[in-house]
Amino acid sequence: MRPGEPAFPFRQFIVKMHGRCNLACRYCYLYEGPDHGWRTRPAATPPAVLEHTARRIGEHARTHGSTALSLVLHGGEPLLAGAGTLARFTDRVRHLAPDGCTVHATVQTNATLLTERRLAVLARHGIRVGISLDGGLPEHNTLRTDRAGRPSWPAATRGARLIAAHHPRAYAGILTVVDPATDPVELYESLLALRPPALDLLLPHGNWTSPPLRWAAGATPYGDWLCAVFDRWWGAGRRETRVRLFEECLALLLGLPAATESLGLAPFDAVVVETDGSIEQVDSLKSCYAGAAETGLDVFRHGFDEALGHPGIAARQAGAAALAADCRACPLLTVCGGGHYAHRYRAGQGFANPSVYCADLQRFIRHVAGRLAGAAAGPAASEGGAP
Ligand code: SF4
Repeated sequence: MRPGEPAFPFRQFIVKMHGRCNLACRYCYLYEGPDHGWRTRPAATPPAVLEHTARRIGEHARTHGSTALSLVLHGGEPLLAGAGTLARFTDRVRHLAPDGCTVHATVQTNATLLTERRLAVLARHGIRVGISLDGGLPEHNTLRTDRAGRPSWPAATRGARLIAAHHPRAYAGILTVVDPATDPVELYESLLALRPPALDLLLPHGNWTSPPLRWAAGATPYGDWLCAVFDRWWGAGRRETRVRLFEECLALLLGLPAATESLGLAPFDAVVVETDGSIEQVDSLKSCYAGAAETGLDVFRHGFDEALGHPGIAARQAGAAALAADCRACPLLTVCGGGHYAHRYRAGQGFANPSVYCADLQRFIRHVAGRLAGAAAGPAASEGGAP
């Protein structure tokens, strides 16, 4: 978006259904990071916040003639709000959305509270379930514990298996944060055993001021890890599961549009509503500094159109114009897009920097491009085929 152009409407509404979590994962950037705003907000989202949020979403969709939007029921742990609350809120958003606007609802959960009864409620109300795990084996999940230090894995794997067995159509997939200390192929295959229709592989939040673990200038542990999983996925010869990062990277390399927060130059279109009704930018910014996600707006007094005018959101809709000079001159610009916005931060300089993962992203994108070029050149040049 250039100055003077209309802003790109929000299409992804991330609503905090509960502000606390039943786990205390030791690396959690939300509860262990620099932003402590959650401490002063309500734990359970009050009904009035949910009602105003639903009305504001409907209003925004109507104003912009939206034909589809994504409703992400988030937390904390959103199932602490109760499956019935999630269902009633989703129904209300659908009711208030304009005719012809499809509301795709997903709950993002740690899976420990998934029961047959709760899953049945979610499935009946058309809410798909995304699960957060660090891998498909107990040893991958040792940092995911409750406050007493007890492992979450037994309950989480029970929840994951319940949904795979009984509600596969409501299974959205698994979200996993990359840890280069793990064996990439073993971790990927362990997740496959939980039968996810899709995987989201996310780089851990870090920036130039607080670099990620195992980060060293010029080294590419995260890129190497992603390349190893990509080769395993690509070489399967059939689609075992979708891996969004890989599919988006391939699409961008082919010049196709892609909608991901991690790559590319597409305008960012997500907004968050906190448990007190505050309208915020996405949580990942909270890994940078306290208050980084704040807009000063709330659903009681402001519509989402006002959030579109916030400088932080406008910057994320400005494409290449808002990037660092190094990124604008980079041959990988249209695929990389400077990487995830939160990973560009440096204290005193803001976000106009390449990603702290620049070397990893270059390693990964060039590798995928090489495999794609090999496939285009024919089977002799490529081991395996595109799933
Ligand atoms: S982050 Fe690095 S790889 Fe990505 S566009 Fe910027 S300079 Fe290029």
